[in-house]
Amino acid sequence: MKGRKLLMIPGPIEFEPEVISAMAVATTSHAVPNFIEVFGNSLALMKKIWMAPNGQPFIVAGSGTLAMDMAAANLVEKGDTVLVISTGYFGERFRDILERYGAKTTLLKAAIGETVDLAVIEEALKIKNYKMLTFTHVDTSTGVLVNPEPLAKLANKYNVLSVLDGVCSVAGEEIRQEEWGVDVVLTASQKAIGVPPGLALLVASQRAMKAWKARKTPVLSYYSDWANWYPIMKAYEERRPSYFGTPPVNLIVALETSLKIIAHEGLKNRIERHQRLASAFRASITSLGLKLVPGDKQAANTLTAIYYPENSNGAEFCAKMAANDVIVAGGLLSEIKATYFRVGHMGSVSSKDIIATISAIEQSLDAVGYKFEIGQGLSTFQRALIRLEALR
Ligand code: PMP
Repeated sequence: MKGRKLLMIPGPIEFEPEVISAMAVATTSHAVPNFIEVFGNSLALMKKIWMAPNGQPFIVAGSGTLAMDMAAANLVEKGDTVLVISTGYFGERFRDILERYGAKTTLLKAAIGETVDLAVIEEALKIKNYKMLTFTHVDTSTGVLVNPEPLAKLANKYNVLSVLDGVCSVAGEEIRQEEWGVDVVLTASQKAIGVPPGLALLVASQRAMKAWKARKTPVLSYYSDWANWYPIMKAYEERRPSYFGTPPVNLIVALETSLKIIAHEGLKNRIERHQRLASAFRASITSLGLKLVPGDKQAANTLTAIYYPENSNGAEFCAKMAANDVIVAGGLLSEIKATYFRVGHMGSVSSKDIIATISAIEQSLDAVGYKFEIGQGLSTFQRALIRLEALR
């Protein structure tokens, strides 16, 4: 690491050197042919990575919250009903955004570390007509992974639009937007997409675009309005110059670089790499006697949420981690905030990064007085990874 601290939070992540170098290329005009090509190619690559060949991709300057805002602003009109499935902090954020645009929401909230039962969701869809359903693929506050496929199928069965918050999942967890019938899959650049913060990215299905076109009232956010952005995306897809708001040129050059790296690795390989590393990491952590926030069946592969040992000082542990050159994130979900920490392992992450992280975890646990067998976490990780690699 040459004196640099290893960034192991759930976004921003460690970026590939080629992506960082791409950011440093002289900024060009957003209307010159070479940039138009980069933008157009990025939109085409998004459709591949989202597995949505007929979807409408959007690349807009902003963070993941803007991508959520865009879905809500464009698809909701005052009084529309939305079923919000929450597996943590970001589910509730979606509810707040939707309500800002006048939606009448129903929140189905999972117990901490759990998912909401499909039967409970179906029951809700049966007793009331909803326009839209939102859910979080990986809630970054709990590390809970939701399987989007059956949920999207349920939404289709009841003729409800589905919106997937994939901020902590796209390009790290499996997503087949078109096959599964998800209407909007949204994300941000700084996570498994592997580009510094600043891009809101989403792909809308043709059904979502139709629902937007059929609105009776104007979109209540000027910046989020697809009426402003859709012609721009179309123009770049058709390699024509256009302008609505100046695009973040350097970030989009970096985006194309990262999307090419992702396509080159191959989605299947990339998802399986995330699964192997996450599984071996979880085995390592539990072998140290620590407990995970999510139940085993719904643990994410892009990050892991871990309870501090009982009676230990979490702030002191995180400070020791930083002193050991690894930055991890503290808790986020208010109910349990002070009791757990989060390790991001997505994008360019390698087994070497995780080994360095486990080593720092062991050193920091020891420093806060936790009793365990030193080396146990490292050797469990090695054994688990070797076993998983052999199964490939
Ligand atoms: N949804 C999820 C699942 C997230 O993890 C985040 C960011 N941690 C957001 C939404 C919001 O994204 P941003 O911070 O980029 O606005």
